[in-house]
Amino acid sequence: MRIILLGPPGAGKGTQAVRLVERLGTPQLSTGDMLRAAVAAGTPVGLKAKAVMDRGELVSDDIVVGIIADRIEEQDAKSGFILDGFPRTVAQAEAFDQMLADKGLKLDAVIEFKVNETELVERIVKRAQETEARGEPVRKDDNPEVFKTRLDAYRNQTAPLSAYYERTGMLKTVDGMKPIDDVTQAIREILGR
Ligand code: AMP
Repeated sequence: MRIILLGPPGAGKGTQAVRLVERLGTPQLSTGDMLRAAVAAGTPVGLKAKAVMDRGELVSDDIVVGIIADRIEEQDAKSGFILDGFPRTVAQAEAFDQMLADKGLKLDAVIEFKVNETELVERIVKRAQETEARGEPVRKDDNPEVFKTRLDAYRNQTAPLSAYYERTGMLKTVDGMKPIDDVTQAIREILGR
């Protein structure tokens, strides 16, 4: 299956993506993870993306569209994938539609996580504290200041995607404020598996 998970940072897309990977056996394609890996490896893409990511703004469409175009060509993604954090702009969605059309492929669902933004800020603070308590490095953009910029980017650049996918009849929504297992169940019902 080819699935897009849509929702603001901290909505639980990553958590549900991991569960979908287990259930469907298709890979999670997280542009955030791929970009962080590029930053850590010091690749040309990583060098370009680092400052933008640290500020909580969006990396250019060209960069992420290129990353995804390469990634979906890999063997493990041939039978499907779960997109987590891509597309994030209408231009990315259009480029992605074109990519799929060129390959004769179709999306199965776009699942939007509806959330309460005030609670999201609390979630992100908690996520940073828990990561720190485990002795793991905390993401530089997981702090309330940068988080506000990330939410603004979502509101201004990504939220229009729900209307975009509604028009294509692809959009399904889940309540992202529900307990993790309930959200998993809601997604299961949407996908019918
Ligand atoms: P995430 O892990 O999905 O929260 O992404 C972390 C950061 O990576 C974002 O705040 C952006 O700077 C960048 N990023 C990830 N995915 C995209 C995308 N599809 N378009 C633009 N920037 C992205």
